[in-house]
Amino acid sequence: MNQRKQDLTIVKMSEWMVMVFFLINFCINCTDDVGNKRKMETDSEEKEVIEEKMSFREQIDALKQMSPILPIEGSFVSQNDNHLPNAPREYRHGFHEGLDFYNGFCGAKIENGTPVVAISDGEIIRADTNYIEIEPEKREKLLKETHSIGFTPDSTLDVLRGRQVWIDHGCGIVTRYCHLSLIPSGLKGRIRKGEIVGFVGGSGTKSKIPHLHFEVRIDKYYLGKNKNVDEIRKLIKEIFER
Ligand SMILES: [Zn+2]
Repeated sequence: MNQRKQDLTIVKMSEWMVMVFFLINFCINCTDDVGNKRKMETDSEEKEVIEEKMSFREQIDALKQMSPILPIEGSFVSQNDNHLPNAPREYRHGFHEGLDFYNGFCGAKIENGTPVVAISDGEIIRADTNYIEIEPEKREKLLKETHSIGFTPDSTLDVLRGRQVWIDHGCGIVTRYCHLSLIPSGLKGRIRKGEIVGFVGGSGTKSKIPHLHFEVRIDKYYLGKNKNVDEIRKLIKEIFER
């Protein structure tokens, strides 16, 4: 009987020791977890503040404040709706995400080598100076894939835009200049409004007809997304034709 009591006492003691051990461990981890959690909460709060600081309207106003110019000197925006954002692009099961500047539609002579300029001051965040044109077979394969999945994946869109330059203007606004034939070597860092970012070409396209595909990105969306033609024209007019 005494032996059993002793055994039970030993079992209870070891249970207590295990509990104490876990408690100490829990407290150490807990402090760490709470610390980390607080830090994460602070980080996400800061992120939220940054992300929430501007509404779409405020971003458009910020863009207007930059007094942007159009990316081809002496041009105006095409009257052809097919050259605007949201125009269907059936060949790739998707929609156009920018403005097209074709010769004969925009008031300026647009040909291979026509200079393309920064619409406003900013920071070059991408310049495909070492661009290699995609092989036609690979391009066809990507397009076939869009038919089977019913949309254009971002990676395919990127290929189809050809040789590109991207400029970050701040306030979540990025502009993209695409299908370029050439980019000045060493293009990087700060760029001023009106400075040359590249030259018109047909890179990434099947036809190789020289034209500029120009995008304004507001955060992760293209300018004009979910808007109809009238709304898009109104926005473009507001931004570029002051
Ligand atoms: Zn285009």
